[in-house]
Amino acid sequence: MSLRIVVCVKYVPDATGDRRFTEDLVTDRESVDGLLSELDEYAVEQALQIAGSADDAEVTVVTMGPADATDALRKALSMGADKAVHVEDDDLVGTDAPGTSLVLARAIEKTGYDLVVCGMASTDGTMGVLPAMLAERLGVPQVTLLSEVSVADGLVTGRRDGDTASEQLQAALPAVVSVTDQSGEARYPSFKGIMAAKKKPVETLDLEDLEIDAAEAGLEGAWTTVEEAVERPARTKGEVVEDEGEGEGAKQLAGFLADRKFI
Ligand SMILES: Cc1cc2nc3c(=O)[nH]c(=O)nc-3n(C[C@H](O)[C@H](O)[C@H](O)COP(=O)(O)OP(=O)(O)OC[C@H]3O[C@@H](n4cnc5c(N)ncnc54)[C@H](O)[C@@H]3O)c2cc1C
Repeated sequence: MSLRIVVCVKYVPDATGDRRFTEDLVTDRESVDGLLSELDEYAVEQALQIAGSADDAEVTVVTMGPADATDALRKALSMGADKAVHVEDDDLVGTDAPGTSLVLARAIEKTGYDLVVCGMASTDGTMGVLPAMLAERLGVPQVTLLSEVSVADGLVTGRRDGDTASEQLQAALPAVVSVTDQSGEARYPSFKGIMAAKKKPVETLDLEDLEIDAAEAGLEGAWTTVEEAVERPARTKGEVVEDEGEGEGAKQLAGFLADRKFI
């Protein structure tokens, strides 16, 4: 039977562009340029490698995001994924992490899966909580933050590198994994891949298709609220410490650190 791999990919505001919040302190995802979260390219890469070493496999990429989030899906399709699912609904604006995990879990269940692959974190929210929440919602094991991952005999196996040790982890499928930016360079889409992606199927689902009440998602259903957001102050000019070779500079630096109670 075909190994069904689902990859969660997020469409995020381009970090090199002008990013902003809307009036109700929600990230502006409509009027800014966006792209496939760079950390999710690693997830797509690992899914494609697992699929490549299986007898028969299908890779589906799933996103929850605004209309332009199809750009992220097309990029993943051009890398080699087979098909895509886009969850889009006006009532999703303001959805927080628990809401996102509910929406993605329903979309993944509807698609059918043996293995869900996520990135280690998104490059905008950067909470890194979605994979664990997703596993809980789906009622399957989670093996997170892997820098190496493989699938054989109905088991997913991976290595998680910590500061002092590396763990070998294993779970029976179906399962959720997340992979780090150490898992291997993501491939660039080839010209052939880009052309082929234009013809690959992208299914669009809304909250009704997923049988989710609008009150369970969006700002209304959010467990968290952003009360204030302030712009980071501009960097101030640094202080230059000069030393004429008499060790005065070192004394000044020590005094600077002592004044601020660093030493
Ligand atoms: C239109 C829209 C409006 C939103 N408004 C808000 C808001 O007002 N307040 C708020 O707190 N959150 C909001 N969110 C949700 C938020 O952006 C995150 O998706 C969610 O909170 C998860 O947190 P994170 O990005 O830190 O994910 P992490 O936990 O850091 O992500 C880990 C991994 O989960 C997967 N993943 C995460 N998000 C998605 C996604 N959307 N689609 C597919 N895969 C995903 C990726 O594989 C990612 O690498 C909104 C999302 C959308 C699409």
